Amino acid sequence: MIKINISSEKMKEIKKKHLKWFQKHLNSSKGNKIEESYKNLKNEKEKQFLLYLCTGNIKNINEITDEINSKDIDLDFLTETLISGTILELKSIKKVIEENFKSFKNFNKVFYLKDFIIQKREEVKKDKDNEAKIFKEIEKEIDDIKSFCDETKFKALLKDFDEKRNKNLGAKQIFLDIRKLNGVSTIDAEIKKIFDYKKFSQTNETEIEKDENKNSIFWGRHSLITNLGVQVCPYCNRQYITNYKEEDIKNKEKYIKNKTTADLDHFYIKSEYPYFALSLYNFIPSCQICNSRFKLDCDFFENEVIYPYEEEFGDEAKFSIKLTNDSENEIDQIKEKLIKEYDSDVFYGNSDNFIIHFNIQEHSKNSEKIKNSITTFKLRKVYQYHKDYVRELIKKSIIYNESRIDELYREYEGTLFNSREDVIQMIVSNYIDDEKLDKRVLSKLTKDICEELGIGYL
Ligand SMILES: [Zn+2]
Repeated sequence: MIKINISSEKMKEIKKKHLKWFQKHLNSSKGNKIEESYKNLKNEKEKQFLLYLCTGNIKNINEITDEINSKDIDLDFLTETLISGTILELKSIKKVIEENFKSFKNFNKVFYLKDFIIQKREEVKKDKDNEAKIFKEIEKEIDDIKSFCDETKFKALLKDFDEKRNKNLGAKQIFLDIRKLNGVSTIDAEIKKIFDYKKFSQTNETEIEKDENKNSIFWGRHSLITNLGVQVCPYCNRQYITNYKEEDIKNKEKYIKNKTTADLDHFYIKSEYPYFALSLYNFIPSCQICNSRFKLDCDFFENEVIYPYEEEFGDEAKFSIKLTNDSENEIDQIKEKLIKEYDSDVFYGNSDNFIIHFNIQEHSKNSEKIKNSITTFKLRKVYQYHKDYVRELIKKSIIYNESRIDELYREYEGTLFNSREDVIQMIVSNYIDDEKLDKRVLSKLTKDICEELGIGYL
């Protein structure tokens, strides 16, 4: 909803640190992660996929060798594009993967199928009569996977499943074969080792360098969020993100560590796109509610929303007060429920008979994304909780008319206020400056409602 304002200088510095961390992670004391993973992969297609993620080139499958030496391959694509490239670059990577590596498009499917079959096996155990119906369900799931899995081993497994089904060998015999799903695909596990978000998010961050005073600089989730300096959740503009420092002792030495109260959301979810799990521009510091409660596994490739590093609601979607005599109504169907008889107490800030509504400019550039953001983060619903705040703004709009603001400014110019905007900021206790909207909670609501009520805009 609110754009994250970070200077390009700051972003450059963050990128440098993030890449240092990633290089360090790739080359651990146990060896080079890419060489290691390459060795563990089962087939040429998987190796081809890993080489694409590292180099951006799709090597001819006949040229794939059993061994690689990471020193000989150019990892610029991996670091400059996959790890630190823009969201547009990540989108094009996804496109290439879809076109060339259909079978790896959805990593979870094979594992999902396994869980699914295990769950169904339990159902068959409990309810023998339903066996045929349950087989049908499994068959459908396998059919879904067929379209993007071309592994020889997997195909053999499907054939085996079909034959046993046709021979009516029964649940027990068929379900034995879920073991065969182990090892059908190893790429998932290897990708998770290279793009290891768990390691990045752990409390004990990795030392990446020393500053000019020989103090250790650590990097990881907490330090990244602290360095980004985002103070309010960009998705909802309702929750503060607090960064603080804490003293820690490691090897009897004292360290100052960064801590934060924020979640680090993966804009493109890591369960579907594990190769974007450490991509800098895929990280959105956000509040826990937006990330863990509302967004969950929503796929923003499929369901496009406002991308906070580049986009915002801005003038395309503005908060507005809509009058109604039924404040408990179904706020999602607000248009139908609006009535003609208004409660005049609303105009004095003395009644809850109104709805905090979004006025969206239809067919504007981002209108679809804005609507998706509102639905995903339940913004229309959660904002109704701030009616008391809007009621105060209504009262303020009556008290602080144009001449009152001018009067206050004249009286305190140079002592309390340096500009007329300072007076308005004091009145509404918030920033209404576009540049500062990411500094306080409810700033967007304040700005839009002030505009609607004419506070400072007369
Ligand atoms: Zn939030």
